[in-house]
Amino acid sequence: AKASGRGFICFFESEMGARLRERSQLERDLRLALAEGGIALHFQPLHACATREVTAYEALLRWHHPVRGPVSPAEFIPVAEETGLILPLARWVLEEACAAAAAWERPCTVAVNLSPVQFRRGNLPALVAEVLASTGLPAHRLELEVTEGLLIEDAEGALEIMRALKAQGVRLALDDFGTGYSSLSYLRRFPFDKLKIDKSFTQAIGADPGAQVIVEAILAMGQSLKLRVTAEGVETEEQLDFLRRQGCDEVQGFLLGRPVPAGQIPGRAVVTAGM
Ligand code: C2E
Ligand code: CA
Ligand code: CA
Ligand code: CA
Repeated sequence: AKASGRGFICFFESEMGARLRERSQLERDLRLALAEGGIALHFQPLHACATREVTAYEALLRWHHPVRGPVSPAEFIPVAEETGLILPLARWVLEEACAAAAAWERPCTVAVNLSPVQFRRGNLPALVAEVLASTGLPAHRLELEVTEGLLIEDAEGALEIMRALKAQGVRLALDDFGTGYSSLSYLRRFPFDKLKIDKSFTQAIGADPGAQVIVEAILAMGQSLKLRVTAEGVETEEQLDFLRRQGCDEVQGFLLGRPVPAGQIPGRAVVTAGM
């Protein structure tokens, strides 16, 4: 038993070491990418359920690693959060997203994902005010997406910052709804404008009656709290149909639009002097 125990520990240590080395390599590469422009923002449309018209675009980070190829934000955001790199990265995302939106032909909303780290040590209201001023984007066209974990970690602190953001006229959305611990009382306490139903529930529509009941309950709750509800991860006409019939406001998903590079969104016509 002793020998096999030691064998396990050796295996464990080498496995841990390998993972740590990989993490710090990823951190170095990310720092470099941020400095040298290896990081891009893509934008995925949100559509009104009833008309399919585009109402907003969500900014999503993309990193094309020189050796590994595309690395998912689900993989590198946690590394950026642990190393503090998330703060310069998040500032870059906000600036890029607001500048892009300010130049769109149609004045729709731009949605930006926030990290809980930005609430703990980001001076977020000041950053948002500064970026809105420098890009000229009207505050009501910016929507900030937060996840439930934030509300549980430090509810009072989060609430104060959210109130300051609302006072500027920015909108707030609760992302990945249904995967965390939010309850009705939570939702009432925070000044959200929108709920985003997590794609795991959307994708169960038509397949899992249990999840379908949850979607119906979230939609009913959203309506009674006067919140807009967006369903994420809509991949089939059947899902869209169900959501529309249940009174869902907006949908987002591969059925109607994948994330695209900023350049693919029609921009405002540039008025040239002398014409
Ligand atoms: P999220 O905020 O929940 O973003 C939605 C994710 O669902 C995106 O993945 C999007 O590409 C994907 N998606 C959209 N429609 C569909 C669909 O129909 N089917 C499926 N299977 N997936 C769909 P992505 O771009 O890989 O981003 C993953 C997560 O990384 C995001 O989840 C968000 O939590 C985080 N993230 C991305 N960009 C940023 C950022 O700028 N800042 C922060 N803090 N987090 C970000
Ligand atoms: Ca999001
Ligand atoms: Ca989400
Ligand atoms: Ca997510």
